[in-house]
Amino acid sequence: MADTRNVLMSTKKRSGSDDNDWDHDDFIVARKQMKPMTTLWPEDPATALANARHEFGEHGGVNMSIEASATFTVMEPETMRRMFSGELGPDRDFFIYSRHFNPTVLNLSRQMAALEGTEAAYCTASGMSAISSVLLQLCSSGGHVVASRTLYGGTYALFSHFLPRACNITTSFVDIKDFLGVKEAIVEGRTKVLYFEAVSNPTLTVANVPELCRIAHEKGVMVVVDNTFAPMVMSPARWGADVVVHSISKFISGGADIIAGAVCGPASLVNSMMDLHQGTLMLLGPTMNPKVAFELSERIPHLGLRMKEHCHRALTFATRMKKLGLKVVYPGLEDHPDHSTLKSLANKDYGFGGILCVDMQTEERANRFMNLLQNYTQFGFMAVSLGYYETLMSCSGSSTSSEMNAEEKELAGISPGLVRMSIGYSGNLEQKWSQLEKALSRMQDTKH
Ligand SMILES: *Cc1c(COP(=O)(O)O)cnc(C)c1O
Repeated sequence: MADTRNVLMSTKKRSGSDDNDWDHDDFIVARKQMKPMTTLWPEDPATALANARHEFGEHGGVNMSIEASATFTVMEPETMRRMFSGELGPDRDFFIYSRHFNPTVLNLSRQMAALEGTEAAYCTASGMSAISSVLLQLCSSGGHVVASRTLYGGTYALFSHFLPRACNITTSFVDIKDFLGVKEAIVEGRTKVLYFEAVSNPTLTVANVPELCRIAHEKGVMVVVDNTFAPMVMSPARWGADVVVHSISKFISGGADIIAGAVCGPASLVNSMMDLHQGTLMLLGPTMNPKVAFELSERIPHLGLRMKEHCHRALTFATRMKKLGLKVVYPGLEDHPDHSTLKSLANKDYGFGGILCVDMQTEERANRFMNLLQNYTQFGFMAVSLGYYETLMSCSGSSTSSEMNAEEKELAGISPGLVRMSIGYSGNLEQKWSQLEKALSRMQDTKH
């Protein structure tokens, strides 16, 4: 039996059959658990992704193998103690248990780090678990957060209701365009995090990431940016953000079939989140399944192509709808207040994002429009979420931002008739445009 085991073990990437088979120069690095991949990523996320290590399957397959194991075996009992003390870690291919680092999830996480240009990353079971885990890691009871007042509804609820009640972590909501207001909201010594979305949901305001980072860093505050709306399009870490969080459930997945998230940031943060005594990922356990990690890792290589087509179609439809006299919100349009900001921060050749909003004035008109688009012309589906290959439409005020009260929505610029559209790339552009036009003219016919 022992011989069989040795044969099986010899196929492992770690060469030799001895856990001690590593040279002593690597000792210090190994203690760090997760070695930073490289600190200098190229400017362009596509180049960084292509430069990242390609994982082959265990038998030479072009795709990586799935390490579908909850637990991992060692050759010698002493190795276990060293893994638990942090001396041997995943960078040397030592794994403990899959709620801690898992090899397949780690490989997807390396792709996420390359995508965002951060030292490290780790993936989680959802976008919300990525956000809540980071916040709980960076803030202790009594801590304070300064956050944008235009946030994803779930994040807003987490900050305004859950964190104060459950953890005594409070948040001041600010207009992130008002730099002085942001500066004044920071309480030195108590404020730990400045939090905002690179492109905010649903009003598509674009954050001036470099300026906000400058303000926060001057006061010793960490900057956490949610980049769910603009993967590839914007790279907040390249403009100074310390941590970038993602809901992978949206564009990165692209299939509307998986809920997942990621935390991209310094290796020291990722390691602290996996700490056996204090780590939020380790102790709260929002673990990603390695089978899910495998599926997602197969989609990242075509994320850039998908984003380009989402962006191209969103810009085309926004431009044409505006010509027809509709009130369109899209940062790719020159009349959008943040057009020049996005132009100066965006990575080259992707465009201005795949989401646009159209203000139909009242909720009744918004609903009539969406109903026609789905049930009369087949332009898209009434559904929350974004980043799917089909167009998804929702009336933000009564759906994804319903956690806000009327006054909060008004402050965040969410009108009751605001329809958010995540523009898909299925079918052909002119076919989809004619479906949109047909619904619009039917709107006019039935006007009373
Ligand atoms: C969807 C979303 C989230 C939450 O992500 P889940 O994967 O659904 O948990 C967070 N932020 C933004 C901007 C989102 O769109």
